Amino acid sequence: MILNYNSAQALRAFLEQEHLGMQKKFGQNFLINPQIRNDLVQALDAPCESEVWEIGPGLGAMTDLLLKKGLIVKAFEIDNGFIRVLKDLFSDNKNFTLVEGDAMKTWSAHLPAGKYLFGNLPYNIAAALLADFIEKGNIFSRIVVTVQREVALRMAARAGSPDYSSFSVLCASAYKVKPLTVIHRDSFYPQPNVESMAVLLEKKEACGYPAVFYPLLRALFSSRRKTIKNNLLTFLSSRFNRQAQGICADILSQNNLNGSERAERLELEAFLSLAKSIDNMRI
Ligand code: SAM
Repeated sequence: MILNYNSAQALRAFLEQEHLGMQKKFGQNFLINPQIRNDLVQALDAPCESEVWEIGPGLGAMTDLLLKKGLIVKAFEIDNGFIRVLKDLFSDNKNFTLVEGDAMKTWSAHLPAGKYLFGNLPYNIAAALLADFIEKGNIFSRIVVTVQREVALRMAARAGSPDYSSFSVLCASAYKVKPLTVIHRDSFYPQPNVESMAVLLEKKEACGYPAVFYPLLRALFSSRRKTIKNNLLTFLSSRFNRQAQGICADILSQNNLNGSERAERLELEAFLSLAKSIDNMRI
């Protein structure tokens, strides 16, 4: 089976011939620009024979490039029709493994992961999947993914910018985030309604986050209109009941915060320090 991944017309004809439909709910947009596909694989910069997890291989355009570079590919795909095509194309290749089903549910059974993560991610799960990897400690050495432009901006945002969110802090807790390039709609078939962006994430030196860091982060960003003090108090009340008021005051003072600050102004280090203070309270 020879597939022309570079032409919308050829892909449409192939899908028709194979009686395959496109499923909007799975965020299916094929990257039909060969130059961009090559650039993304280059940016991953994975040495031959290293293991790469590819999320959402689709019809295998990028999978083919990764395998041709001598990489060992574990591909996670949900669409049964695409799974059939991927098996036809690559099941003879000893460097290819296909994991069928929802990557959100399947990935944890395949640990330890390789050092690399790659993919033109399905936009409906991109942020949730990356967050899940980080929160569960599955940190890759290097990641190259294509995501919705807004998601990429949130990933790379710094404190004080309008795009800054708990997801920005989460990404910064594990990675240096570098936006690579905007990918215009016409590089995809079918064209998505939104612009896309490729992003590179490079693993930071491990610094060890207490388990409370992640729920705390979500809690402090949960109500943007509220101050740190109010969000922190709500969070502590669910853990320390009536002692929460006093503990909240202690933690704020230990961290040189007066409580009127808002989460979107705090850097990663401030969240880490708050999490460590709460962690110490449990001893
Ligand atoms: N990699 C291909 C390319 O660039 O041309 C296709 C990328 S397309 C944006 C996203 C792919 O992810 C589709 O193949 C879709 O079926 C798959 N997908 C969507 N949701 C998924 C999920 N929860 N788990 C695994 N794969 C998923």
